[in-house]
Amino acid sequence: MMDEVPVVVVGAGPVGLAAAAEALERGLNPLVLERGESAGASVTEWAHVRMFSPWSELIAPAAGRLLESTTWQKPDDAAYPTGGDWVERYLRPLAEALGDRVRFGAEVTGVARRGRDRVVDAGRETEPLIVHVRTADGREERITARSLIDSSGTWSSPSPLGGDGLPALGERAAAEHITYRIPDLSQPAERARYAGKHVVVAGSGHSALTALVSLVALAKAAPATRISWVLRRGTVGGVFGGGAADQLPARGALGVRAQQAVDAGAVRVVTGFRTAAVEAASNGRLTLLSGDGQRVEDVDEVVVVTGFRPDLSWLSELRLELDTTLQAPVALAPLIDPNVHSCGTVPPHGVKELSHPEPGVFLAGMKSYGRAPTFLAMTGYEQVRSIVAELAGDREAAERVELVLPETGVCGGAGLFDRAESQPDGGCCGAPAEPQSVSLPGPTVR
Ligand SMILES: Cc1cc2nc3c(=O)[nH]c(=O)nc-3n(C[C@H](O)[C@H](O)[C@H](O)COP(=O)(O)OP(=O)(O)OC[C@H]3O[C@@H](n4cnc5c(N)ncnc54)[C@H](O)[C@@H]3O)c2cc1C
Repeated sequence: MMDEVPVVVVGAGPVGLAAAAEALERGLNPLVLERGESAGASVTEWAHVRMFSPWSELIAPAAGRLLESTTWQKPDDAAYPTGGDWVERYLRPLAEALGDRVRFGAEVTGVARRGRDRVVDAGRETEPLIVHVRTADGREERITARSLIDSSGTWSSPSPLGGDGLPALGERAAAEHITYRIPDLSQPAERARYAGKHVVVAGSGHSALTALVSLVALAKAAPATRISWVLRRGTVGGVFGGGAADQLPARGALGVRAQQAVDAGAVRVVTGFRTAAVEAASNGRLTLLSGDGQRVEDVDEVVVVTGFRPDLSWLSELRLELDTTLQAPVALAPLIDPNVHSCGTVPPHGVKELSHPEPGVFLAGMKSYGRAPTFLAMTGYEQVRSIVAELAGDREAAERVELVLPETGVCGGAGLFDRAESQPDGGCCGAPAEPQSVSLPGPTVR
């Protein structure tokens, strides 16, 4: 009976667990496969970061209902958790409530239509999917699925420093001095790594702003610390966001604090810098070189927060229809294109925008946004509500929109930027892209 065959959900992050809660509520049989050892494995890696969304926007409706049937203590709606709080107070209890419907140490390595590679037409509507799994102890398994919600996120595939989207010359060789995460400066080892050093932050999203603000605080305690901020775009412009006009006040406040640090001269800003090479100097430090001859010298450490990209490698036998620019589902891409939109202009969307030629296969959550930087958890919750309603045969609920997204206060709407000129270089949830101005061979920053 196909009804007993599970709806397989990839990833026990916030969106995967929300999908499972929705599926359970609708009487479907969800099975979450998570490669990590516990819920929220990716969020755990940025546990130290204070979120800009309050709890009220971080708990999925169906998940909240499931948790309320347990002894769970609901956090204060108005408080702002860290990533670690999100895991401890919500994701782990939620995974526990879902019980053996969540399997840990189960990495999905491939998905195909049973007995058919991508080329075969026959049976795509009737045959189930086969999900290839590698377990933590190295075994291989095959799981039959009636449908697949891939909510595996993009955290494991950060974008490189190189301005052309590929690692800069020498970037891999300098790996010891480069991190692709926001440093946790509450940890003594991390403080020692950055205190008194020349640190370069690359990127223009909220992750970059968060890194800058915490490094500026470190520099107050360790005044020899120098901070340079390299951006691909030609001006800092809208990077700081909408400030008081942002409907997520904590997100607006982060931009304000970063702008104050820049205005006060605590951060040296280098715009129009597209890193082409990272060279090791004879003094043991690094030099960053841009394609047009700018140099940032005497660098000790580089924090690269230039965004993420989806890992599509294990989906190669499925017929997905992805936008050639963003690698997001084709109907979703125009709604989230950072060349055109900011967070606040992204309309809620559901199964209609997230469907592919491959029946029953959906990308959801952070991964559905491909390379677009504006994803919010509540968007993902609405996506999986709609997808699961469709899987349960409730077309009316699948098509209904149950979400209003908060605006950033910097929204410009369609046509604000010329696609050919803009170059988003944001990390997660970044501010909208700015038009790129031409930068001349320029200064050397030391
Ligand atoms: C620093 C930071 C701050 C953020 N702050 C906010 C905020 O304030 N508000 C907001 O709304 N959003 C915020 N976001 C954006 C977004 O809500 C989060 O990234 C969220 O974690 C995305 O959820 P997800 O479930 O799509 O993916 P993830 O949380 O990345 O979860 C994916 C899961 O899939 C697992 N996985 C990956 N590959 C496989 C595989 N092949 N097989 C099995 N399992 C796999 C991973 O281990 C992980 O547990 C933030 C993001 C970052 C990075």
